[in-house]
Amino acid sequence: MTQAGATTFLRAAHFIAQMGHESGGLRWLEEIHDGSNYEGRNDLGNTVAGDGRRFKGRGIVQVTGRYNYGRFSQWAHGKGLVNSPTFFVDNPAQVASPRWSFLVAAWYWSAERPSLNAQADADSLDAVTRSINGGTNGLADRRQRLARAKTLGDAILPTKGGTVGFNYYTVEPHATQLTSSYNTGRGGKKIEYVTRHHMAANWNLARCVALWNTSQTSAHYTINGTGGVGQAVYDSNTAWSNGYPATNQVSISIEHANSALAPAWTISDATIIAGARWAAALCLYYKLGRPVFGKNIRDHKEFNSTSCPMHLANGGKYHQKWMNEAQSFYDKLVAKSVNPDGTPKAAGGGSQSGATNTETPKGDALSAQAEKRIELILDQLAGPEKDAAGNYKFTGWPQLGNLTIVDNAVEQNKCIADLEKTVAALKGDK
Ligand SMILES: [Zn+2]
Repeated sequence: MTQAGATTFLRAAHFIAQMGHESGGLRWLEEIHDGSNYEGRNDLGNTVAGDGRRFKGRGIVQVTGRYNYGRFSQWAHGKGLVNSPTFFVDNPAQVASPRWSFLVAAWYWSAERPSLNAQADADSLDAVTRSINGGTNGLADRRQRLARAKTLGDAILPTKGGTVGFNYYTVEPHATQLTSSYNTGRGGKKIEYVTRHHMAANWNLARCVALWNTSQTSAHYTINGTGGVGQAVYDSNTAWSNGYPATNQVSISIEHANSALAPAWTISDATIIAGARWAAALCLYYKLGRPVFGKNIRDHKEFNSTSCPMHLANGGKYHQKWMNEAQSFYDKLVAKSVNPDGTPKAAGGGSQSGATNTETPKGDALSAQAEKRIELILDQLAGPEKDAAGNYKFTGWPQLGNLTIVDNAVEQNKCIADLEKTVAALKGDK
């Protein structure tokens, strides 16, 4: 949804309504019909015998036809996501895989039908439906889904990036743009520390991600020259940052932009403060304790022959300032004396009005928004069916062989573990 630009309430509601209709509530990533009804449809670019079945509806938006598969291929290739401008024409079934099912909708929504967000801004269900469907098929269901999405309030907004809002307590960054350079998961390891880096450049998130996508390097977070926090790898995954896999698996890496390059390698105050605060927030969120260098705060140069993070490193001219800020801000977060955006709370400690304060944790109680998000996530993990008592039935997803997403992931991990055992055995045999 972030990729689609569906980051405001109306856009998100229309996106969810349309994708919900097209995929039957995320049940169908591939059209049930065999697609033979699209055979010979020149308007879809189906010019070769068998194209109807080959390019049947796939992805949550049910993209259809040789022409659209080609357009999606070109877009993905232009972004460096696939290695050929005809990738999905050559591999049509891929569009129904979890990796591409959602991105194809982002492409269609933002690139192929770029008026969709404006139509959603105008809350025009008719116009949005025509852009998605070509006509108004299923309008009643789409309307019902739109109304339902709207009752959920801000819970429908993308949880990372978008307009949900920067938040130190829930470690929501200012922006998210994911790189393709990372390993899924952490090899079973837990997060132990934050690793500090300097960027050796004065770049924003997008520029870092563009480099990382082609350079087999990455970090979880970038702090730009004005203190903006960007996420390129989710915390649950392993970034390729420290040049040593074992430390990557237990680390969250933060890149700090340099305000001047060699030989000065300066870092602005805004970047130092924001990086230190973000590290403090991560230490609290992941229960790593108060920031202490050598324990839960480490430097890149400890793990690899590099001078990174240069003046930020232990003993360097920015080190103490950074550590002092990390510790004092950690204490403020623990005392809940700052708002989610880091500004001080008004004297008296009473709750404040205003959008930035709606997610301030209050004791152990979850906000209504957090509760709704959890329910939406459970819907997706378990399949949305519930029994009369409202308990999840965990019936799984037909396209995953009636496994839940969690069980499917476990199955896939078993395969990987078996493969790793085989490789280890072969290595032992030389
Ligand atoms: Zn580094």
